[in-house]
Amino acid sequence: MFIERLDVTGYEEVYHFADTDFSAFIAIHNTRLGPALGGCRMKPYESDDQALRDVLLLAKGMTLKNSLAGLDYGGGKMVVNAPDPTRDRMHFVGEAVETLQGRYLTADDVGTTIDDMKVAAQRTRYVATQGADALPGDPSPWTALGVFQCILAAVAYRNMQNAPTDLKIWVQGLGKVGWGLTERLANSRRRFFDLYVSDLLPDRVAAARTTFGATEYTPDKAAQIHVYAPCAMGQVIRDDNIDDIRFPIICGGANNQLETDELAQTLHDRGILYCPDFLVNAGGVISAASEITGYDEGAVRQSVIDRGVCLTKTFKMAEHGNTTPLEMAKLLAHSRLP
Ligand code: NAD
Repeated sequence: MFIERLDVTGYEEVYHFADTDFSAFIAIHNTRLGPALGGCRMKPYESDDQALRDVLLLAKGMTLKNSLAGLDYGGGKMVVNAPDPTRDRMHFVGEAVETLQGRYLTADDVGTTIDDMKVAAQRTRYVATQGADALPGDPSPWTALGVFQCILAAVAYRNMQNAPTDLKIWVQGLGKVGWGLTERLANSRRRFFDLYVSDLLPDRVAAARTTFGATEYTPDKAAQIHVYAPCAMGQVIRDDNIDDIRFPIICGGANNQLETDELAQTLHDRGILYCPDFLVNAGGVISAASEITGYDEGAVRQSVIDRGVCLTKTFKMAEHGNTTPLEMAKLLAHSRLP
């Protein structure tokens, strides 16, 4: 394994690991609260530079996410520029993680599963989510629960909870988080959501139509949507599409939804309630952290449900401080860093 340490301003440690036909990066952004905790993403990137950019953004987001969730873990992330998690690649992941001697703890993420992490764990002691006996392993249902609670909180904050018509919600991406969120929305007893869904994989959309009575989302339906829940990839809100984004509420599980933080101000100025992604989607890491310290399902559930409470508090503080919810969430996260 080839290992190179990269010097990146603002990051404690960044490494490039290379094998014969693929590369991986681990970024440790900040460990002032504890060892860095964040998942291992595996997907084919257009270039290693793009993979490096992704790991840096994701690691920084983990610092904010872990801090705001009250966890004593820092921010870090791993990305592997490869198409799928073969056994050899997961061993490579384990060996790479092991070289950092616990300064970075990994978990599953986009492109990797609990079973993959069990393979990585054959080569490292530093895997948070392995789903060992009686442990939940998959953090995604918790992420979905947190997003659901935040959608309810945002709807209430906007006084839309008693709207006479059904609230139309678009869930973009029907993977581990998006499917779980759609299921919760479909089974919601608090109010009825009219579900719109999209995914690159047509069979997932077809399954959501059959299972939940959802409608396939197409851009011509945008004007009807009350809540947009991005649950696929990041950077869905960009300079080049911001003028097309008119959804009253944006609240989803995807990481790094905004191309730049400045776009939060643009959305705010246009009366759009943007819910900070690192606050909304912390359910999974709350569960992963609990696996490390001694799993307590009741405490995890309460802490994940509290994402909605934290979001409401953030909205109110942002309103009083005359700033955006994103800026307020960042302030609150930074205030915990020693
Ligand atoms: P996943 O890989 O299980 O699912 C992603 C889904 O999005 C797939 O079905 C894919 O086909 C679909 N997709 C990709 N591009 C799309 C597009 N342009 N339009 C519509 N659908 C598209 O991933 P996941 O674990 O569900 O994670 C989803 C997002 O949530 C990611 O951004 C991830 O970083 C973030 N997130 C996940 C967790 C977790 O617990 N899994 C926690 C925090 C954040």
